[in-house]
Amino acid sequence: GKCKSVTVIGLGPMGQAMATAFLEHGYKVTVWNRTSSKADELVTKGAVKASTVHEALAANKLVVLSLTDYDAMYTILEPASENLSGKVLVNLSSDTPKKAREAAKWLANRGARHLTGGVQVPPSGIGKPESSTYYSGSEELFEANKETLEVLTGTDYRGEDPGLAALYYQIQMDMFWTAMLSYLHATAVAQANGITAEQFLPYAAETMSSLPKFIEFYTPRINSGEYLGDVDRLAMGLASVEHVVHTTQDAGIDITLPTAVLEVFRRSMENGHAGNSFTSLIEIFKKSDI
Ligand code: NDP
Repeated sequence: GKCKSVTVIGLGPMGQAMATAFLEHGYKVTVWNRTSSKADELVTKGAVKASTVHEALAANKLVVLSLTDYDAMYTILEPASENLSGKVLVNLSSDTPKKAREAAKWLANRGARHLTGGVQVPPSGIGKPESSTYYSGSEELFEANKETLEVLTGTDYRGEDPGLAALYYQIQMDMFWTAMLSYLHATAVAQANGITAEQFLPYAAETMSSLPKFIEFYTPRINSGEYLGDVDRLAMGLASVEHVVHTTQDAGIDITLPTAVLEVFRRSMENGHAGNSFTSLIEIFKKSDI
C-alpha cells in the first residue's frame, strides 16, 4: 500500500538531503543518527527525532539507511535485532555486491527484507526525478515501494540479486575514479607547462565527451572477443603511452598513473598481442594473478 511515512537512519549529507526530500513531499519522517545533533535542522523542518534506534525502527515499516558502509549498518542494527521483524530496509549506503548479498541474508534471518540501492548523484541531486539510483532485490518489494523511493531520485531496477545494484554502482565508480584521476593528472601536466586549469577545461571536456563514440565502436568487438588491429594496434598504443609518460617526466610530474597504464600494455605485448587492438588488454585484466 501507499506509505506516506518513512524512517531515515544516517544523516550525513546524503541522509539529510533524503529526509528533506521526503519532508518536502509531505511524508512523516522519523530520523536517527549516531551524532544526534545532525537531526536538529531536520526537526525544524518537521522531522521527528527518534531518541533510540529501537524507536526509529518502531516508527515505520519502511526504513531508509544512508551510512558510510554496510559495517555501520551492523553496528547500528545489531543491538536492535529484535525490532527488525517485518521491516523493509532500503540500504542506500554504498559498498560491495558481496556485502549487499550478506546483508540481505542477515536481515532475512531476522525477518526483515532488504533492497539494495546505489545512488548515482551527490546530495544536490536528491529530490530530482532526472537523477538515478540503481535498485536490486525482490522486484515485488521494489514495486511496492517505488513511488516512495522516487521521491529521492528516478529508479533503475537491476534485478533480484541483492548484489546487482551495488555491482552497477561499483563498475560506474571504477570508471569514474580512473577517469577523474586521468583528468587531474593531465591538469597537473598542463599546469607544469603554464596552462591553467581554466584554459585546459574546454579541451579536457572535449576529450571526455569524445569517449562514448569510442565505447560504442569497440563494444561489439569486445563482446565478440575479437580484438582486430585494423584501426589501432597495441604497438602504436604502447608508443603513445610512452610519450605520455615522457611528457609527464619532462614536466616534473608524478608518473605513477601513466606508468600503471604502460605496464598493462607491456604485459600484453609480451604475450604477443602487438598486432591486436588495445581492447585485447581486457584479457590482461581477466588474468589477474593477485
Ligand atoms: P557520510 O559518510 O558523510 O555519512 C555517514 C553516515 O553514516 C553518518 O550519518 C554517520 O554517522 C554514519 N556512520 C558511519 N559510521 C557509523 C558507525 N560506525 N555507526 C553509526 N553511524 C555511522 O556519507 P554521505 O552522507 O555523504 O553518504 C552516505 C552514503 O551514500 C555513502 O555510502 C556514500 O558512499 C553514498 N553516496 C554518497 C554520495 C555523496 O556525494 N555524498 C554520492 C553517492 C553515494 P555520524 O554522523 O554519527 O558520523
